[in-house]
Amino acid sequence: MGSLLDTQTLEILAREDSSEDTVASAVKIARNAYEYWKEVPGTERSKLLRAIRSQLLRNMDEIVDTMIEETGKVVTEAVVSEVVVSCEVLSYYASHAASILKTRSVYPGLLINKRGYKRYEPLGVIGVISPWNYPLVLALGPVATALAAGNAVILKPSEYTPKTGILIGGLVAKAGAPEGLVQVITGHGPTGEALVRSGVDKIAFTGSVRSGKAVMRAASDSLTPVVLELGGKDPFIVCKDANLDRAARACVWGAFTNCGQTCMATERVYVVKEVYDEFVDKVISLTAKLHQGTAPSDDVGAVIHKGQLDIIDNHLADAIERGAKVVCGGGHVDVGGRPSMEPTVLLEVDHSMAVMREETFGPLLPIMKVENEDEALRLANDSQYGLNASIFAKDRRVIDKLVAGLRSGNVCVNDVMISYGIPSLPFGGIGDSGFGRSHGPEGLREMAHLKSVAEDRFGFSREPSWLPVPSWLAKAVKIGLDLLYRPGHDRTGSAAENTGNGTQTCVYINSKEVEIG
Ligand code: NAD
Repeated sequence: MGSLLDTQTLEILAREDSSEDTVASAVKIARNAYEYWKEVPGTERSKLLRAIRSQLLRNMDEIVDTMIEETGKVVTEAVVSEVVVSCEVLSYYASHAASILKTRSVYPGLLINKRGYKRYEPLGVIGVISPWNYPLVLALGPVATALAAGNAVILKPSEYTPKTGILIGGLVAKAGAPEGLVQVITGHGPTGEALVRSGVDKIAFTGSVRSGKAVMRAASDSLTPVVLELGGKDPFIVCKDANLDRAARACVWGAFTNCGQTCMATERVYVVKEVYDEFVDKVISLTAKLHQGTAPSDDVGAVIHKGQLDIIDNHLADAIERGAKVVCGGGHVDVGGRPSMEPTVLLEVDHSMAVMREETFGPLLPIMKVENEDEALRLANDSQYGLNASIFAKDRRVIDKLVAGLRSGNVCVNDVMISYGIPSLPFGGIGDSGFGRSHGPEGLREMAHLKSVAEDRFGFSREPSWLPVPSWLAKAVKIGLDLLYRPGHDRTGSAAENTGNGTQTCVYINSKEVEIG
């Protein structure tokens, strides 16, 4: 850790806004650490990730308790959705980062006398700006990814979860990271903006659309690249052949886990008319049995703060005013001193209502009856967001049609939200849900600089096209083009990408990349 973390006074730091000067000095410290870390071999980077994982497990109770204190989430969520997924991300990159970042040669096309290859180099200093709803995994995940790619990191956790952020810094320090490699700065939006403007080499931002746009505006001044993981309004489609027991349970979990404060929560449900009544009955009966509170056995925790509750209240009031019916919940409840909303099921909803169009980020579950899958698809796509979507069906043709038709970064089939739990599966959005990816090879390569190299193979003293050009060249090329590209003779061929050790990792067949090893 850099000088910003005094392990004796974490609590005091946690309440402070870091000034622009503090941010600037953090970047300086990070640059020094980067100079060392970028040269460290992949095996050593992996060792650090595994050591962080060990520290996370060793300090799990403290981290879990801190998250609960800061957010009001229940213990199961803190352990299952945060600690488990963090361990998975750390393990995945510890095992695979080196091979994902290996130099790869590419098919040179006509230029068989050349070698083309791609190098993945560290970027430098990555600024990670994270939200409060999953304060561990959405901070530690990008931090670990940045480290795996050879970067130094400055983390700015949410102003609502600074202690969790600082504990993450502590884990990295205890794991033996070099001084200054990961630093934590605390503060509100302006501190985040100072980080964006500080000259870091990339910003990995997770948060609301509004803040994401502000980040992109600030980053544009210095052309600092950004990854934006933003909000969602995820649709959940139930087809007539769906396993309704599974669909109803998934829907209730998707809508109410973390008290609905999940970027890919189930925010709107479309059920085909044939199974609507049965599905709704199941959802209501499951929802009515949920326990809300702070006890270890409780299912649903708290709404984070009054501002979030106001948004939820407004969506509920707007829906009721426009004709929605509350069939479960709908009232306020105190959860460990936080005024919160009960898990609430709404029927007779439509797209004139904010609850079907804007991100609620709370425990409201609006369910709409639709004629058929086509109408469900049309309504699902009637949104500026595109983060995740769920489909419950058995017919393969229907599933494939919906998967292909959904405008969404991620799709879960007969499941909900689980895509984030698969560390090898890239995660990210389209439209207002942002761009860029976390997790998987793509998530790691977001944190790397891709350098393309073209190298001559034979060392002849000249190339045919170099000046002065031979007079026969243009004519010869014309004849060659006719032969090469005449109709019916496209050279789509196959092209191999090779890693440095000569292992073929994927081929291109008619322009499609196919991983083979
Ligand atoms: P938020 O946008 O209010 O804050 C997120 C972070 O950005 C915080 O650290 C905040 O201090 C910082 N910030 C705010 N303004 C900034 C600015 N102008 N410049 C730089 N940083 C700034 O979001 P939140 O309320 O903490 O989180 C909830 C939102 O995050 C929801 O919209 C949710 O959908 C989204 N989210 C998205 C994902 C995803 O992976 N796509 C995951 C979790 C949450």
